[in-house]
Amino acid sequence: MSPDILPLSAAALTTAPVPLIDLVEQYDEIADEVRAVVDRVLTSQKFILGEDVAQFEAQVATYCDARHAVGCASGTDALVLALMALDIGPGDEVITTPYTFFATASCIHRVGATPVFVDIDPVTFNLDPAAVDAAVTSKTRAIMPVHLFGQCADMDPLWRTAVRNGLPIIEDAAQAIGSSYGGRQAGVLGTMCCFSFFPTKNLGGAGDGGMVTTDDPELAARLKRLRVHGDVGRYEHVEVGLNSRLDAIQAAILSVKLRRLSDWTAARQNNAARYKKLFDASGVSEHLVFPATHPACGHSYNQFVVRIEDGRRDDVLKSLQAQQVGCAVYYPKPLHLQKCFEYLGCKQGQFPEAERASAESLALPIYAELGAIRQERVVRSLAHALDVEQASPVYSIPVRKAA
Ligand SMILES: *Cc1c(COP(=O)(O)O)cnc(C)c1O
Repeated sequence: MSPDILPLSAAALTTAPVPLIDLVEQYDEIADEVRAVVDRVLTSQKFILGEDVAQFEAQVATYCDARHAVGCASGTDALVLALMALDIGPGDEVITTPYTFFATASCIHRVGATPVFVDIDPVTFNLDPAAVDAAVTSKTRAIMPVHLFGQCADMDPLWRTAVRNGLPIIEDAAQAIGSSYGGRQAGVLGTMCCFSFFPTKNLGGAGDGGMVTTDDPELAARLKRLRVHGDVGRYEHVEVGLNSRLDAIQAAILSVKLRRLSDWTAARQNNAARYKKLFDASGVSEHLVFPATHPACGHSYNQFVVRIEDGRRDDVLKSLQAQQVGCAVYYPKPLHLQKCFEYLGCKQGQFPEAERASAESLALPIYAELGAIRQERVVRSLAHALDVEQASPVYSIPVRKAA
């Protein structure tokens, strides 16, 4: 993954493009194993739920120490199913963050409830627990924190608010499988926890997939029923659910990948630590804000997101793109300012930290296979984009001379 001596010429180092994420490189490592399990499922012709899904559910439950895990068709559906399992609907409010992927809030809308946005903590980009506490009303039915970019929301104060008001917590852990808070895994930090297996998440399938974990047997049973049209068997429908199941092929592939997840997470964490060293060595550190980690959190770095202040973010983005370094803005427009949520009546300036994060955040490559050489290329490009005079070369590993 990152050999000490690299068979690259110095010229190649300075020019090779670095993608934001490279799924092909990871697949190459596991291709034989993945092809074998796909072939096995094809041979069985058992595609919907079944043994592969049950096994993978058990593995995820074990992985995050949850009692139950229920696979479904996507992370979005996981959120919808969790809300439905709590009977949340019209007239109900769910408190969440405006600085997240769209699905977090759209699911609340989808079940007929009202998303209530509150601002984020500028240091972690996650829900500000004090703002959540202040937003609770008699209509509040749940709190939905997002573990954004792979860092868990500050769950202790959120739970204090939840318990005081008799509210459940639904974790949106779509970006956070393998993350922890206070020594416990994302997946058991809420009443229910929703994962996504979208290909670019830390555990990504060969298409869409999702899962809900919970310790509550009644909620688990309800989720299992809701994902099959509310069917309790023999075409007896006790309620109207969805058709939202995890495919056996996805489960079989994800099961192969889950065995490597801890190693891949460690590689991402290692890359983040190396960015810190390289930023310091290159002088870049003074010109950006390094992603902070909450002391209780084990960050799984689904994204490595820095802040570029003073209105320079978009110029840095353009410069990195011109230098063929992959980067992206998550998320350029906070949800309270999206057209489809105009009906909520939120105003520009209402959540200043979410708006500032949208204007300043920049995601850099962090994928497990990135390696030191490509990271140094990212940092040199970043230094160039930021007009940082580099006092000394930032190379930290020996490079074999081109023959
Ligand atoms: C990806 C994501 C989702 C939705 O997951 P899908 O599997 O794409 O439906 C929900 N919330 C967050 C924060 C996400 O990043």
